[in-house]
Amino acid sequence: MTDTTPDIELPVEEFHEALFEWFDEHHRSFPWRESDDPWEILVLEVMSQQTQLERVTEAWEAFIDRWPDPTSLARDPPGDVISFWSEHRLGYNRRASFLHEAATQLVETYDGAVPADVDALQRLKGIGPYTANAVASFAFDRGGPVIDTNVKRVLYRLLDIPDEDAAYEGATDALAHTSRIGRWNASIMELGGVACSKQPACDEAACPLRRWCRAYRTGDFTAPDVPTQPPYKGSRRELRGKVLRVLNGDDSVTLDDLGHRLRVDYDPDGRYDRSWLRTLLEEMADDGLVTITDGPPVRVDLGR
Ligand code: SF4
Repeated sequence: MTDTTPDIELPVEEFHEALFEWFDEHHRSFPWRESDDPWEILVLEVMSQQTQLERVTEAWEAFIDRWPDPTSLARDPPGDVISFWSEHRLGYNRRASFLHEAATQLVETYDGAVPADVDALQRLKGIGPYTANAVASFAFDRGGPVIDTNVKRVLYRLLDIPDEDAAYEGATDALAHTSRIGRWNASIMELGGVACSKQPACDEAACPLRRWCRAYRTGDFTAPDVPTQPPYKGSRRELRGKVLRVLNGDDSVTLDDLGHRLRVDYDPDGRYDRSWLRTLLEEMADDGLVTITDGPPVRVDLGR
């Protein structure tokens, strides 16, 4: 058996801090994010399986209004839920009848409450390991890391790992914040949905992982669900990636040394001159990616 545990050299505490700060500032606002009610979270997780979050909002609000707890759902006939599912175009009607069955199980076994235990959640109809961990983590801060396509895309681009389940599991084992698992799952999933989407928005979405990201450094943004290189939105990102690549190899470089390694036509007094480079670096410094120390000579280091 080959060892697919990736060699993770990231400063994990700093990594968590950067990721969580980004989440607080940049996450999309959805009504269920305000909820810590396990039933409401379970309904959301079932609805959002293979359905985009943006499309789920209205249906989720209407569902919770009508069936605010498992008992109210179990009391109504399964056909009512299936009709609701079709009316709201949630697809896969089987999920509606499974949810009704799960509500009946909750009433019969847990007196209408949702259990916090992942194994107990997995015994509910239609709830697999992914949904069980999502519900346990978001509602109770328990369970394990969730690995969906968004999370895979982030990990694959961030680290040099193969597209294999064992490698993703190894990476999340090394990186996940197990005592704040709800926050971890929400943050890494949201990053994959907002910044590290199929066409990545590393700079535009202020991705907090840029300083460690392999894809950002190399310019290769392919991913398991993005087999061909997505277009760059200009060459700025490529240059920023090059800066990080140089700084990852050297502790500190002078402004001119960096300039010559970025562009063959760098010339302190030419078109691509010191002020051009300074503008690029100051943007990166604002993003916390580099620090500039005035000289002479001016020196540039990795941020923080
Ligand atoms: S820097 Fe870009 S490619 Fe890397 S994790 Fe962030 S968004 Fe994804």
